[in-house]
Parts: sequence; C-alpha cells; structure tokens
Amino acid sequence: MPRPEKERLVNTPPLFNSFKPTGFVKSGLKQIVISLDEYEAIRLADYIGFDHSEAAETMGISRSTFTRLIEKSRKKLSAFMIEGAELVIEGGNVHFQDNIIRCLDCEHMFKTGIDKTFDECPSCGSANLIDMAGGYGHGRCCINPAGHGRGRQGNNGNGNRHGRGGRN
Ligand SMILES: [Zn+2]
Repeated sequence: MPRPEKERLVNTPPLFNSFKPTGFVKSGLKQIVISLDEYEAIRLADYIGFDHSEAAETMGISRSTFTRLIEKSRKKLSAFMIEGAELVIEGGNVHFQDNIIRCLDCEHMFKTGIDKTFDECPSCGSANLIDMAGGYGHGRCCINPAGHGRGRQGNNGNGNRHGRGGRN
C-alpha cells in the first residue's frame, strides 16, 4: 500500500506570499511556486543558519529529504531573481506549529498557538482579523488533541489532512 507522505513541520505561516519584480505587470510574468515546506527549508538553513541536520530535525524529516528540499527551493529562488517571475508561496503537505494573526485595521500581528482562535485584536479590539494559517488552507482539522506536539512522532497518515475545512 502506498505510504502517505508525512507532514512537514513549519514553524509559522509566511507573512508574505507573493513577490514580483518592480515595474512589471503581473500578467506578463510567469509564476514560480514555492511550497510551504520549501519556504521553511530556506528559512531554517539560509535565514536562521541551521545546518542541514538541525533543520531536518526541526521539520521532522530526514536529512536527505531536507537536502533535496532546499536544493529545489534555492533553484526556484535563483530563477526568480535571474529570470524574473511572480514568486508565490503556497501548498505543500505541512503542519504549522504556531499561527500568526494579523489585524487588518491596525496591522498588529501576533503569534499564537495553532489551536487558538481570536475574536478581536488584542491591540485595537477590531474583529477584522486574518488567520494566516487558515489563509494557507490550514483548516480546523488541526484543532485536535495531543497528536500534534513538537512532533517527530508526527501523524501516522491517518487521513488528518489539512485544508479541508472540516469542523472536526
Ligand atoms: Zn488591531
């Protein structure tokens, strides 16, 4: 039987998910898509400076998987810079460990547990909030007991998929 791919751990949703060269209209550009796990690989190894085994462990994947992941990601980033394209971050079989909520009224952004929900901005009281993880299709299926710890024990592919938006 086919082994379902294990979810890769991503610390928090990216704050920005679309980039393009200045002075070009979006419609004239090709699109390069970086998946959320590819984004996390770049963040851990190149932005923070983890070595590959630390980064692999942080994401709950093997070192060789991590190496393939970051090579793919770097290739795309270099193509973005050299060829010019619209760069979009989306997709990937991932689990966010924490969420980021953004207030559309005061631009306050705060990190919170993936299982928490907020009705109003702690800074200005507005209800105009964006759930960043939700925006990446990370649905309520994650609001779910113990299973999702800091997890290498991970989930065992029992159909707990993201983005379906089910209530439970
Ligand atoms: Zn606010």
